[in-house]
Amino acid sequence: MNVPAPIAMLAELTYRCPLSCPYCSNPLEMAARETELSTEDWVEVFEQAAALGVLQLHLSGGEPAARRDLVDLVAAARTAGLYTNLITSGLGLTQKRLAELDAAGLDHVQLSLQGTDADMADRIGGYEGGFKRKMQAAEWIVDAGFPLTLNVVVHRQNLHQLPQAIDMAVAMKARRIEVAMVQFHGWAMLNRGAMMPTRAQADEASRIVVEARARLEGQLVIDYVPADYHGDYPKRCMGGWGMSGLNITPDGKVLPCHAAQTIPTLSFDNVRETPLAEIWYHGDVFNAYRGEDWMQEPCKTCDRRKLDFGGCRCQAMAIVGDPAATDPTCIKSPMHGRLQQLAQELSADETAELVYRKSP
Ligand code: SF4
Repeated sequence: MNVPAPIAMLAELTYRCPLSCPYCSNPLEMAARETELSTEDWVEVFEQAAALGVLQLHLSGGEPAARRDLVDLVAAARTAGLYTNLITSGLGLTQKRLAELDAAGLDHVQLSLQGTDADMADRIGGYEGGFKRKMQAAEWIVDAGFPLTLNVVVHRQNLHQLPQAIDMAVAMKARRIEVAMVQFHGWAMLNRGAMMPTRAQADEASRIVVEARARLEGQLVIDYVPADYHGDYPKRCMGGWGMSGLNITPDGKVLPCHAAQTIPTLSFDNVRETPLAEIWYHGDVFNAYRGEDWMQEPCKTCDRRKLDFGGCRCQAMAIVGDPAATDPTCIKSPMHGRLQQLAQELSADETAELVYRKSP
């Protein structure tokens, strides 16, 4: 098949993070600080990525501001010709550091929001005083002139704050808000009982987003990831496996998607040993679920297969136990009914408590 060049790369600079969000989708076993790629390693990766055709670089984590060399990394990415987006909790950013990031060429900031008030945000983030610091960082980000996107992960515990989150984005002069229903990958799987939204909440969230999009057209862009456990068709995960984006873990593994390490049959190449272009075009992992040849029925003959590429391989692994199975969020999957029943049971769980992530 004709494999396109990747457009976007997510560089997970570190798994270290001051927050302890229960919805964290990073793996249960996280790479320790000592194994993180060095500044020189990352600079080399950015140059290779640009040569490969990557246009957008998303600097993420953990908390990327935990890297002392963040300004140098942004400068190197800019020199390589990449558009840079910093995905941050805001903790670890000062006015001075933001000015340095601006001078280094940072293009955009995406700020996470755990709740719209200190009670909720600090409880979900597991960090007392975090909300106050985040609000201060938001002001500095806007004052520095960065285009701002707010990113809010919504779940059963904070969904009632969705209208306020959208209002906050407007008040903060954000250009965009990403409203993402919690995705149950990595650590978040431990919190399905405490965070699974009810069907009524999922429907209400969709209604709120539709209404806000119409009301705020031209003022605020609203991206929305609906609750897949309550949906009928899967999302087009990563734009298709190995078709438009790649992730680099803090220790240099190259993944087709953020959660791919949950598929135990895959063995990941590392940028320390293999050139990025070789991994993208010829690596076993990237070719494992690329295109359609790997598909089973009902995907194999489904007329939607070019739209969603059979959904999410990690979700198929997590629920069905087979990464080549149809994503069980699809109404045509034999496991769909079981998934919906599970979602209903989990969303009615009144005993589950939040299990907080711990930083490595
Ligand atoms: Fe998509 Fe497969 Fe479902 Fe068809 S059967 S809609 S290709 S997940």
